[in-house]
Amino acid sequence: MKVIPKPNLLPIKTYVACYSSFNDRVKRNNFKSIANFINTQSVGYDANANIANLYLLPASTHMTVYGSILKGDMKTLYENNMVKNKRGRKIYNKLLSLAPLGRCPFCGIGQVSTLDHYLPKAEFPAFTVLPYNLVASCKDCNTGKLASYATTQNAQTLHPYYDNFTTVQWLFARVLQTSPVSIEFYINCPVSLSSVDKDRIESHFNNYKLARRFSIEAANAIADLREEFILFNSTTVQIQQELHKKFVSFASRHKNSWETAMYQALSQNQWYCNGGYSQ
Ligand SMILES: [Zn+2]
Repeated sequence: MKVIPKPNLLPIKTYVACYSSFNDRVKRNNFKSIANFINTQSVGYDANANIANLYLLPASTHMTVYGSILKGDMKTLYENNMVKNKRGRKIYNKLLSLAPLGRCPFCGIGQVSTLDHYLPKAEFPAFTVLPYNLVASCKDCNTGKLASYATTQNAQTLHPYYDNFTTVQWLFARVLQTSPVSIEFYINCPVSLSSVDKDRIESHFNNYKLARRFSIEAANAIADLREEFILFNSTTVQIQQELHKKFVSFASRHKNSWETAMYQALSQNQWYCNGGYSQ
């Protein structure tokens, strides 16, 4: 749910850097022989991603990627020559470092620890080492998402390099009068967004199980607030003012963070500010 500038790495250069690390000359030549194909595929990826049409790219059903290169070869290329090899690892690390402050762009809460293939390498082997398809991610987002890829435009999750839905607020929260107090997160898109965009935001929210994950973050923050308000014997007005200040400052940084939605909901909730916080 965060935007990252598209990596300034040429796809073909990255591909060459990866296969050049093979000691076996025959292997190197095999990869080299499909370089044009990989380049054409990369151009197609970029063009489709720019207009939210990655779902149109067909998943591969064959063992062969192109020429003599098999799916397993591309997997080896990634795992041995990009993740482990020195030259490829430099590119891997550069892609990891693109996530601002080391936070996962898909959820905004987890720590970046891996690269996620936006289009999975098992079904889209031509994009296995394509920088535009490799996005810094936390472990939960990388392994816990519900669908591995979308087959309709509306089901596509947000792509941090290509999608920017940060200018309007669509993540909101409501306060539940439970003991302890809990927060429920939900999506409510403004009319300015198209129905495809709205569905994509919903898909992203559901795929990465963000309602549950955000509510856990919120539960911890609320426990801290409870201690603070009790310790300082805060009045209703002081509580409202503090929560509103937090809402405004979080919103100025990121309109759709769980903190923005939570502080907004808390500051506007009379029951909570009036003593509900002590539940
Ligand atoms: Zn994440």
